[in-house]
Amino acid sequence: MEKKKRSLMWFRKGLRLHDNPALLQACEGARNVYPVFVLDPWFLAPDPSAPSPGSRLVGVNRIRFLLESLQDLDTSLRNCGSRLLLIHGSPISIIPHLLTKWQIDELCFEHDTEPYAQERDAQIKKLAGMAGVDVYSPVSHTLYNPPDVIAKNGGKAPLTYQSFCRLVGKPPPPLNDPPAKIPGPAADLNNVDITAVVPSLEDLGYTDLNEQEFTPHRGGETEALKRLEDSLADTKWVCEFEKPKGNPTAFIKPATTVLSPYLKFGCLSSRLFYARVQDVYAKGKKNSKPPVSLEGQLLWREFFYTAGYGTPNFDRMVGNPICKQIPWKDDDKLLSAWRDARTGHPWIDAAMVQLRKWGWMHHLARHAVACYLTRGDLFVYWEKGRDVFDRLLIDSDWAINNGNWLWLSASAFFSQYHRIYSPITFGKKYDPEGHYVRHFLPVLKDMPKQYIYEPWSAPIEVQKKAKCIIGVDYPRPLVDHTVANKECRERMGAAYALHKEVGGLPQQEQVDALH
Ligand code: FAD
Repeated sequence: MEKKKRSLMWFRKGLRLHDNPALLQACEGARNVYPVFVLDPWFLAPDPSAPSPGSRLVGVNRIRFLLESLQDLDTSLRNCGSRLLLIHGSPISIIPHLLTKWQIDELCFEHDTEPYAQERDAQIKKLAGMAGVDVYSPVSHTLYNPPDVIAKNGGKAPLTYQSFCRLVGKPPPPLNDPPAKIPGPAADLNNVDITAVVPSLEDLGYTDLNEQEFTPHRGGETEALKRLEDSLADTKWVCEFEKPKGNPTAFIKPATTVLSPYLKFGCLSSRLFYARVQDVYAKGKKNSKPPVSLEGQLLWREFFYTAGYGTPNFDRMVGNPICKQIPWKDDDKLLSAWRDARTGHPWIDAAMVQLRKWGWMHHLARHAVACYLTRGDLFVYWEKGRDVFDRLLIDSDWAINNGNWLWLSASAFFSQYHRIYSPITFGKKYDPEGHYVRHFLPVLKDMPKQYIYEPWSAPIEVQKKAKCIIGVDYPRPLVDHTVANKECRERMGAAYALHKEVGGLPQQEQVDALH
């Protein structure tokens, strides 16, 4: 009889049981399955010098979302007779160590296309190979495999959404659930230091968080599946979904699904999401179409994953062949005013508070603040804004975040740089009463609605009555939008013109020419 294998299921993203091919393979013919998650201090350790609670790289809201997702995964595994094995340390040293300690025959983990993950996984695969361990690393974070799409396109990433959609067919359906009983790890864990329970934020060293207003969005597969079904319950809403038509200031009941954090951590499979949307379409008479439909949103995700995979230095201006070279300002004062919600433009500041406190904001609010920081008003480097989003978003995603910042700064994909969102009229159009601003900026809660988006224009008597003196209780605007956006357009126009002229120069020389 063939000896049954011991497999190590290494969870990273893909924090779910459903549609998880790596987990299915780990269970197949196994005597023992070791489900492991490595708690890496590089991502999780508190950094007291960071501008808001969290580690250097990750805001506290996303850390909490991760811990909740791990707790949920552990509970689900326990319901199948197994458990999650949590270990503190760096995966690059821990995983190879576990392979020998537990005499693992097969290492299973979901394929990850992010550059840092590619590097890490290549090393792990090499070490596993040297230890004689088989590796199974299937694609299940995305609907399609980016290298396959690029190969279909003659070796180049498609750079327009339409050309991407023409290349890809229907994505594969989700796979079956894992067996109701998952073979547990062996009773003797051979002296490996396993963390007994999923740590709390306090266990990780986060104290004094009482004053924090935490995100209302809770992590985990259970919550993801519930949110998916709740989001898709209204057939008419799903069939008529059109972005960018939703209201970015709706925060009690957001205008979109808020499934992005669950997709980011893989608490929800994108294939399941896609398949369930198709089920709903089948019930309706007709439905909206990509790029604006809900299906179309999932395809945007795929588009950016493919572009990110196929573009060298996708996360940078210099050395990125699709990125326009623009002489942005390296101005930390402007950047921190934007990041800390002190621009004096209430719509922008309210959105930035929502980002810090909730780790999520509507797509159009992201548009507004990204445009404001870059080509709209402040002319600050898009990479700096990207870093702020990267740290604070609970859905922070390397490919999607970089792709959208390239877009919003009119550095790639989108070139109508003169189309600028007004920090005054854009929010007002959706929310003339200013409910969103009042909620996230309580200092303005008593400001009459005619001044809520331009409080500096309120007469001093009105400011006194509203208990908000501009310049004292709330900042004056950092820039005059009318002047700033004109200057920005001129600079963008000059950079675009020069870009055409110097297009043949090597990129560093292009940057030098523009400065
Ligand atoms: P829905 O409208 O319900 O869409 C469903 C899913 O489709 C989303 O969960 C997401 O996975 C995908 N999707 C929707 N819009 C986009 C888009 N424009 N590009 C790619 N995928 C999309 N999204 C992230 O998930 N992570 C990020 O780090 C991120 N950074 C962004 C930065 C900027 C500057 C901008 C303008 C947008 C960014 N987005 C990012 C895209 C988008 O804003 C969010 O995906 C969306 O708002 C999430 O809300 P939702 O789940 O309710 O979306």
